[in-house]
Amino acid sequence: MSHASENCADCDRLSADYESATIRWFRLDSQMQIAEFGRDPEASSMIARERAMVDDRRQALKRALHEHVQVRHGRSIRAAA
Ligand SMILES: [Zn+2]
Repeated sequence: MSHASENCADCDRLSADYESATIRWFRLDSQMQIAEFGRDPEASSMIARERAMVDDRRQALKRALHEHVQVRHGRSIRAAA
């Protein structure tokens, strides 16, 4: 993500948090697939709960970043995947 063209600490922080939450989500998602493949229902439900929590955080950070950019910088950004 490189839309933080201005030097804005908030943009940097929110983008970095969002990126690390996304990386964490992908990691949990592959752990989840491994647990399902190994037919480990206990592990998969544990991972599923954590993945849902990380996903909530990810969505919240994305909203916060969009809101911040809109309010502070007066423009909207295209959603980063
Ligand atoms: Zn900013």
